[in-house]
Parts: sequence; structure tokens; C-alpha cells
Amino acid sequence: MNEARRDPPLAEADPELWQHIRGEDARQRESLRLIASENYVSRAVLEASATTLTNKYAEGYPGRRYYEGMDFVDPIENLAIARARALFGADHANVQPYSGSPANLAVLLGLCKPGDTTMGLALPAGGHLTHGWKVSATGIYYKSVQYGVRRDDHRIDMDEVRSLAREHRPKLIWVGHSAYPRILDFPAFAEIAAEVGAHLVADIAHVAGLVAGGVHPNPVPHCAAVTTTTHKTLRGPRGGLILCKAEHAAAIDKAVFPGLQGGPHNHTTAAKAVAFAEAATPAFAAYAKQIVVNAQALAEHLLARGYTLISGGTDNHLLLIDLTNKGISGRVAATALNRCGIELNGNSIPFDPRKPFDPSGIRIGLASLTSRGLVASHMAEVAALIDEGVLAAAASNGEPDAALCARMKARVAEFLAPMPAPGL
Ligand SMILES: *Cc1c(COP(=O)(O)O)cnc(C)c1O
Repeated sequence: MNEARRDPPLAEADPELWQHIRGEDARQRESLRLIASENYVSRAVLEASATTLTNKYAEGYPGRRYYEGMDFVDPIENLAIARARALFGADHANVQPYSGSPANLAVLLGLCKPGDTTMGLALPAGGHLTHGWKVSATGIYYKSVQYGVRRDDHRIDMDEVRSLAREHRPKLIWVGHSAYPRILDFPAFAEIAAEVGAHLVADIAHVAGLVAGGVHPNPVPHCAAVTTTTHKTLRGPRGGLILCKAEHAAAIDKAVFPGLQGGPHNHTTAAKAVAFAEAATPAFAAYAKQIVVNAQALAEHLLARGYTLISGGTDNHLLLIDLTNKGISGRVAATALNRCGIELNGNSIPFDPRKPFDPSGIRIGLASLTSRGLVASHMAEVAALIDEGVLAAAASNGEPDAALCARMKARVAEFLAPMPAPGL
């Protein structure tokens, strides 16, 4: 072949980059992945992501595009839309948002005017930046009122939500979280939104897989719109999704394109379609159920080892742990655990006296381990590994010695080896 036309595989074309990617594969295979927003996608999802669909421009919507050559892109997007609607029982689905944050911005653009008042769960109480936190565009271009959780039981205070809504008359109320271990009461939020004339929007980025699998209530019947990422418990490619009532379909579509985005990422749309089909299977429902069983089993083992769980336990895929009584901050613990092959993140806890960059807590999610096939009986060992790592980190001021880290890493890899990760 002509030298200019050579088309070598990545390993040959860019060995340095290829090495890094294979390194990441090995890291994901061998570490105890407990980051609550992460997962392992299937081989089928990975395959759909890495396709020639990335070459195609498709501004617009199926049947109404600004470019030619939509023979395959239109049916692919239509499949993704139909599968998303069926999975969540929604009137309308927009599968084009590049990720969760742009999906939320698109909903604001579609349903509010700049300067309108919105309400959302505060970041330190487990909310997301894009629900109106002050450094986010959603808190800069919109007036934002934030609600919290109660000090005694760490549950969302519906009395506070109601009184703030009556006082501020928001145009839109967010319900959703990135670090709240309990079920959300969508009907109660819907009642308050109706009373004050607000659009209720649920952001189920973290729990979408649990909703699809039938182990968390579905907000769709109660909300004007529902947003989600597709890559957390839903186990699809990195991306976003908006579901809405028929009456808001035109406004939402117009907000996503041309309001906020240009051409959709068709390779990602295809991978979303694959993930939505997977999420409709009995195997996925079993996975969703197992996530909650695993989270609750791990909670019991950690409570028995003297850990303080925010809200006392969990109803979903995540645990939020206050490490104050262990004498170590969340960030220092997370960094030390990572050196031992245990991957989780430091996280603020409600009413955290420490700064967000070095908070008091850690957050743990069970989606990735459940995707590997771990069940409740494995959780004693998971708790033991976390506990040994935390105790070693606390005893060494966050600097456990290299030999100990190496031993723990080997133990983690050996523990996980019989349960191969999907996609790898
Ligand atoms: C993760 C998350 C998002 C943002 O998703 P990105 O894809 O990272 O932009 C939005 N909302 C909630 C509640 C999330 O947890």
C-alpha cells in the first residue's frame, strides 16, 4: 500500500497512547472499583462506540436533518429514542445530550428564561453542581434556591422544600442527587411543584439503572422532564438523555439543538441504543436488584466495623461514610486506598465542617462490582479490604508503606480474578 494511505492499528500508529490505554484496562481489571458514578460497560456497548458513525455529521433530528447521508444514522437514532421511551415509559426522548451536565442546561434553556428562580438540593447535602450551585452556569444564569437535608437523620426535609417553594415560587424544581443514599419521594415533590406552579424535573443520573431495573421508583409519571447520564448505574456509554412529557417535547428538542449543541455524537447514540436494549432485559433487572442487596450487605459489614453511615444505611447503590471517628479525612483516605488498589472518592458529608477539597467523608458505589458478578457473600471481604486500608492510612498519616500497599493490591487483584469484568 502507498505510504500515505497506510492505516495501521493503534498499537502501531501510536504505541505510547496504546500503552496508556492498555494500562487503564489492567487497572480496571485489577482494582476494586467503588466510585459510585462509574461502571463497566459491555463489550457490545464498547463496540458500538468505536465505529465509523463518529465520521458523520447529523445536525437536526431524524427526518429533519441539515446534512445528507442519513440512511443509517436516522434509523439508529430512532431506535435509541424508541428504546429509551419504552424503558422509562416516557412520551418523548431526546438522546442527543453530550452528557449529564449539558442535558440539565438544555432543560433549563427549554423550560425557563434566564434569571428565573430554580430550586435544587445543595451540593454539600448530596446535590449536583448543575442543580443551581453557585459556581455552575445553572447558578450563574438562573436565580437558585437550595434545599438541604435534616441534621438528625440526613433525609431531605420535605417541610423545608415546601416552605422554600411557597416563599420563592420557583419556575423549576430539581429532584436528584449524586450522593444521597435514600429513595427520593417523587410524588411529594410533584405535589409541591403543582402547588407553586413549578416544573418538576428529576435528574436520575445516579439511579437510572435502578429505575430501569425496577428497584427505585420511576419519576417519569410525576415530572415535566427527567434527565440522566447514560454511563452510571445505567451502564451505557458516556452521555446524556432527556425524557419529557409530550407538551415539552418541542421546547426540549429546540433547546438541545440548535439551542446548546451542534451535531449529535452518532457513535454514542448507537451505544446508548445498545445499552437501553440491555437495560430492558431480565438480566439487567437482576443486576439492579443485586446492586441494592450488595450495597446493603456492605453497609452492615461496615457498621459492624464501627463506621458512621450518613442516614444510617442505604436504599440505593451508594454509601456515604463519615470518617471523623477514624481520625482521617476523606481525601487522605481515598488517596491512600487508591495506592492499595481500592478506588473510591473523598466526599463532603451533610454539614461537613471540612472544606470540599478535603472533606470528612468517602462515597462508595456498588454498580461496578455488581457488574463483575460480586454478590452479598463477597461483601465481608470488600469491607475488610476497605477497613484495613483506612486503618493503615490513619495509622500512617495517609502514607501507608509501599510494601503494605503492594500486598493489598495483590490481594485485591487475586480476590477479583475469578470475576472477570465485562468489556475487558
Ligand atoms: C453525574 C451527574 C451529572 C453530570 O453528568 P456529567 O455526564 O458528568 O456531565 C448530573 N447530575 C447528576 C445528579 C449527576 O450525578
